[in-house]
Amino acid sequence: MLRGSGNSAAPYISSRPFNGYVGSSASFQLAGRWLVECSEGHEECRSLAGGFCPTRLVDLKRGLGLDFVKVVSSWSLRPTRETVYATLSYCWGGDQAIKTLRSTLQSHQAGIKISSLSQTLQDAIKVARSLRVEFLWIDSLCIVQDDPRDVTEEISRMSDYYENAFICISAASASSCNEGFLQPRSGNPYHHGPFELPYRGPDNSMGSIKLVTYADYSSALEPAKARAWIMQESLLAPRLLSYSYRNLAWSCRRVNCSDGGPYRPAHGWHDFKERENWRRSQREDAHSHESFSIKYWKELVQSYSRRGLTVPEDKFPALSAVAQKYAHTNSSLKYLAGLWHNTSHKCHPLFSQLFWTTPLYEFRFSHNLSFLGERYSRNLEAKSIHRSRGCLAPSWSWAAIDGPIIYEDWGDHMFEASNFKILDARVDAEIQQAPFGAVRSGWLTVKGGMREIVPSTEVAVLPSTEMVQPGVVYRPDSEEDNKDLYKIMNGRMQGWLLEVASGGGNAKSTTPHWNANMPKGLILVADRADYRRIGLFSLENERDSSFSNTDLSSYFGEPQTITIV
Ligand SMILES: [Zn+2]
Repeated sequence: MLRGSGNSAAPYISSRPFNGYVGSSASFQLAGRWLVECSEGHEECRSLAGGFCPTRLVDLKRGLGLDFVKVVSSWSLRPTRETVYATLSYCWGGDQAIKTLRSTLQSHQAGIKISSLSQTLQDAIKVARSLRVEFLWIDSLCIVQDDPRDVTEEISRMSDYYENAFICISAASASSCNEGFLQPRSGNPYHHGPFELPYRGPDNSMGSIKLVTYADYSSALEPAKARAWIMQESLLAPRLLSYSYRNLAWSCRRVNCSDGGPYRPAHGWHDFKERENWRRSQREDAHSHESFSIKYWKELVQSYSRRGLTVPEDKFPALSAVAQKYAHTNSSLKYLAGLWHNTSHKCHPLFSQLFWTTPLYEFRFSHNLSFLGERYSRNLEAKSIHRSRGCLAPSWSWAAIDGPIIYEDWGDHMFEASNFKILDARVDAEIQQAPFGAVRSGWLTVKGGMREIVPSTEVAVLPSTEMVQPGVVYRPDSEEDNKDLYKIMNGRMQGWLLEVASGGGNAKSTTPHWNANMPKGLILVADRADYRRIGLFSLENERDSSFSNTDLSSYFGEPQTITIV
């Protein structure tokens, strides 16, 4: 139910129709009111910003006239507590005509004609000026794009830039910088209606209400939600003004709201779920419990892995600002190519982070051939997922995969196998000064029980053992890994199972045939003198049989020390 025309319903019905005209003066005024309410009235948002300045900013003041802006260096600005700037979060969607390069830096410092900039940048300048923010940080203008040193240094400071911005303007609806984001929204936000009905207020005055059902909308469909770089920009921004494809929305530390639409309380606002999770992970009570931090990190990484990158090598850099902030609030954790390791604590969060998988499919070897046949046909339609060629992540990092990854929600029900121990973990960054950036190589030295996979010509039947025969569920990580698994089964390659988790408790797995209570680990193949990961496995109880503890303890051999690259 929405408030209709006439205002007698206004005090009683807070939901209003969507305002799709995000470039209207009413919309600009509303954004201004949100900002004033937040910056002056919200205790928890008040301490934000002031005094901090990025290396360069775009000066929006009208000294050069309405039609010009210029790039300024922060040392020339002498920032005070009153100096605030906005950031622009947007999709490049291809190259930009106007960028700051070594050759254009000087002329950009003299002045840039606004009309020469791409439409999204022009719209952002309009919004920032209407909010009376005098400076704007835009990557394409404030980073010297053809100076690798400047790019690396500026990217490593991005967490500070976004976090200390007064507000972040998000061009969420625009898939390219040429699109702009202030045009009226054309889609119908309602599935049924609106049906306008008369409404009589308690004081007998007449107005109207509108009945609607909302059309399916998911902020996940916004172009901004599909781009990897943009995630950290919206997470770190203290205040986010989002121009979505439906309407204008606001998110700060206290309030999430939008210009029209259903009223929802501040918490649980789906459009800003990632921000809510991020905020929770950063709260004091969250990082005093390490498992919370890791739980949110896993959620973050799953959501990040669904976003696309134009340059595959950017996988770590595009997450580096968030990782840096995470390291800052969780000082006991060490960053390892997208995973976190704690060497000083009794609990090792790293082992559970190794249990990422992909929606490639399950590859099941069991006695039941017909079951396998059915699986095969379904698998043929499975989406192909590949090992990344651009990102040099170690095989045990989720970042080594181009495509979505999944973490099972086992919570506290999975335990490190008693024989398994991470002895050493190391990652070499591509550039030493950017420890959260691109990776050159990584090693994990572990000690654990291993079992060689016995080739089988009859792939559906497990090699017979003395113990009660277990089934094994194999889950290759990618198409390439799947080919390796075939080679292992054909005896053309050697493969091993490394027990990492013992399973335990009564957890119910959300994946069929993936028994949470049974031992699990990594499928490994040899890589020169070391090993590399090609997937996950889980032992499973065959129907009508069960393992005794003695069976399981002899299944994996004596613990060996190996290095996984
Ligand atoms: Zn606020």
